[in-house]
Amino acid sequence: MPPPPSPTAHAVPSPPKLRRLPLALGTTVLGLSLASWYFLRPPSPKALDPASYSPALITSHTHPTPRTSLLKLRLPSPSPPPEPFYVLWVKSPQVQIERPYTPLRGLEGEGGEEVELWVRHERGGEVSRYLSGRKVGEEVEVRGWTRSIQWQDKDWDEVIMLSGGTGIAPFHQLLHHLFLSSPVPPQKTRFTLLHGSRSPSELPPPEILGPLAALQQRWPERFRMRLFVDELAGGPAVHSVGDERLLLNERRIQLDDLLRAVDPPPPPRFRFLGRVMALLPPFMSPRQEEKPKRNKVLWLVSGPEEMVEAYAGPRARDLSEGEVGGVLGSMGTGKGWEVRKL
Ligand SMILES: Cc1cc2nc3c(=O)[nH]c(=O)nc-3n(C[C@H](O)[C@H](O)[C@H](O)COP(=O)(O)OP(=O)(O)OC[C@H]3O[C@@H](n4cnc5c(N)ncnc54)[C@H](O)[C@@H]3O)c2cc1C
Repeated sequence: MPPPPSPTAHAVPSPPKLRRLPLALGTTVLGLSLASWYFLRPPSPKALDPASYSPALITSHTHPTPRTSLLKLRLPSPSPPPEPFYVLWVKSPQVQIERPYTPLRGLEGEGGEEVELWVRHERGGEVSRYLSGRKVGEEVEVRGWTRSIQWQDKDWDEVIMLSGGTGIAPFHQLLHHLFLSSPVPPQKTRFTLLHGSRSPSELPPPEILGPLAALQQRWPERFRMRLFVDELAGGPAVHSVGDERLLLNERRIQLDDLLRAVDPPPPPRFRFLGRVMALLPPFMSPRQEEKPKRNKVLWLVSGPEEMVEAYAGPRARDLSEGEVGGVLGSMGTGKGWEVRKL
């Protein structure tokens, strides 16, 4: 009879099992590490969303005029913005209120995740004052995109934009979208921007006026810009932006300026020719070219509330655009004209 197996012979693991032990231990450690990384990793920043806030990093903050900020914000994984006019909402954490601001151009900067805002510091204003105190490297809570009004190309003959102060921002956004970021700029519509600031030192910064001056230079038949200041304060009646010298009108935008925007006088060389022609007897004058009828006109007004009210009438009680009134109301709008308040 063979001797019974000793109990100790079973207690010692066999060589193949021993070899599998480190593998099992390694798998367990790896699994535990992966699980702890998954559950303990810092939350990834939430992408820009219209319905909830996410943090945006301030990458640049300058004060181009005494009471304004030019801010660049890096947004978390933003989707491309819609067509103009779109805004980004900024929240003040102190009082939990939000205000809309208008990106000057679409997404830009490294990685195409930045926007630039031009913000006026309102005296006693909650969010603008909060923004004016923020520094590069700090974060602000934002949500977006949302639309203010929708740009609709209804085959306009003329689009005439009236702006005051930072109210120029949506028009810069529109013009950038139509002319500067589009391969085919508008072929038919003529755009006119009439912009007013209190003084030359409060005019929009070169980041805004520069591209618009260049646009006017490149496509004078498609885009014209006229600048107005309440007072020159003894300064020159020209405003230099890079190589461009822009004429300043020392007054508020008047009815006459609106009429000229719809029906501009002929350029000076034709005016001279016209005077010579007027001296000739009728049978010697060449046939007058019939002026094209320009009756599809879109008026856009953007600026401080008093300005919007003066040119286009007050907003309704629910803050919607309300009836057309003011100077534009008195000009009559039943001729294929449309007036929008931004
Ligand atoms: C579609 C859209 C786009 C916009 N885009 C821009 C932009 O690009 N840039 C820009 O600068 N602005 C823009 N604005 C305006 C902006 O949203 C804010 O309205 C502006 O910055 C003021 O907000 P605030 O919180 O600083 O001021 P608020 O606190 O709203 O105060 C506004 C004004 O009311 C006065 N006020 C506040 N409280 C009182 C009180 N108790 N009694 C009396 N007066 C008071 C303040 O002194 C201030 O003058 C836009 C607005 C809209 C609707």
